[in-house]
Amino acid sequence: MEIHVGYIVTLKKQHPCGSNDWKVLREGADFRLECKGCGHQVMMPRRTLEKSVKGIMGPLVSEE
Ligand SMILES: [Zn+2]
Repeated sequence: MEIHVGYIVTLKKQHPCGSNDWKVLREGADFRLECKGCGHQVMMPRRTLEKSVKGIMGPLVSEE
């Protein structure tokens, strides 16, 4: 599964703020994600992330 910094991932579980979309801020053994809805940041291991992902959108070129 290809997930890299700058990608937007859609998770199966909805965040309390109502958004399912997260931006990838850091990649590695652990990933740092930022909620697109409220800006909340979380760290999660790659395995957990891969299990939770429903969809992946490529990098947003407009957000550099
Ligand atoms: Zn949120």
